[in-house]
Amino acid sequence: MNDEAKCLQKHIDDLSEQLQKANADLKGIQNGCYHDDWSIEYTPDYQSSYRIPSDKECGRKMGVDSLPPVFVPSKTTAKWIRTCPSCGKVETTEKVRPKTIPGEIPGTTSVVSEPDFYRQKPSNSLANKGIDIE
Ligand SMILES: [Zn+2]
Repeated sequence: MNDEAKCLQKHIDDLSEQLQKANADLKGIQNGCYHDDWSIEYTPDYQSSYRIPSDKECGRKMGVDSLPPVFVPSKTTAKWIRTCPSCGKVETTEKVRPKTIPGEIPGTTSVVSEPDFYRQKPSNSLANKGIDIE
């Protein structure tokens, strides 16, 4: 390894160590925060409709096995992001849970839905399935 490469490798190792320490320090601050003033934002994911052309349109000659065109409808997946202004922690969820609130008439209640950040999966998980709200 030449001197420039050695120097760059040392620089990368130092930065990597600093990054790990900064991440650990930030996690410590976030773990110690009460997160008592979350800011919640509704950020739905919209996937527009699209059409898959038929085999005939694509020039494929499949005879009786040829596939017709397929229309895939649009889809909106509900999603919420909450941010703690104190420590900067960000969490996302696509889940909702029922919440019982007092009704307008004394002695009655209503059930509404609210974002459920408690059953969320880690933000890097692709296994988080959405709720179709259409
Ligand atoms: Zn916080």
